[in-house]
Amino acid sequence: MGRTLDLGRRLELCSADPHCHDISLGLYRQPLAVEPATLPDRQAVPPAGADGAFPVQFLVHTYSTAVGAAERVAFVSQALGDLAGLERVPGTPAQRAFPCSCGHERALKRAFLDICKKSNEEPMECYPLSRMDKKAECQIIVVPVGNGEYRIDAEADTPAAQRRRQAVARGYLKLCEMEPVEGDDYRVRFRCGAAHDRLLGLLLFRAQNVRSTMREDEAAVSRGVLAAPSQQL
Ligand SMILES: [Zn+2]
Ligand SMILES: [Zn+2]
Repeated sequence: MGRTLDLGRRLELCSADPHCHDISLGLYRQPLAVEPATLPDRQAVPPAGADGAFPVQFLVHTYSTAVGAAERVAFVSQALGDLAGLERVPGTPAQRAFPCSCGHERALKRAFLDICKKSNEEPMECYPLSRMDKKAECQIIVVPVGNGEYRIDAEADTPAAQRRRQAVARGYLKLCEMEPVEGDDYRVRFRCGAAHDRLLGLLLFRAQNVRSTMREDEAAVSRGVLAAPSQQL
């Protein structure tokens, strides 16, 4: 392949992967190569431009020819499927897309960077939709209620737990660009109306710690995308 591969727009960059010879890994966005309806497990067809975008697919790519680079790309790509819910697009070399064919770019960038911190040996079990919360002193549970909507619950019924439910809901609003559900501070929804359980499981820790996550993001932006990922930890 020549150097003029049309990879599309680079959405995110892991500039020096500590798990693979400091190679750089890019996540690229392309127009979806198939009709949205042919994606497996498709749950809902959003109206055209549901989130102001055309249907998209993504590709993990490296220009590196280092030993292990191809395996590393395959690992990150597979993890985006298993842990974030990006499915393989039939008939393409390695492209993946969400079942809704939306970009969900902010959430996906975060998922990609977090996945790049994992070594190829880490198990790829998808994250549960519940997680211990220190400040709530109980489990926080993300409950899918259908049509892309989720309710944030807590095991305990204390004021602290209620505050944390709200904080996690707000965390998801920011991190995943979800929208609030009117009259309910504990509910959030995806505009596309599709379920994104894996993505929300992967990012639950981030939603619980949204302030430090946003600080990391701002620091990364101010350093520029070429900053070393070791500084992002
Ligand atoms: Zn979606
Ligand atoms: Zn969407």
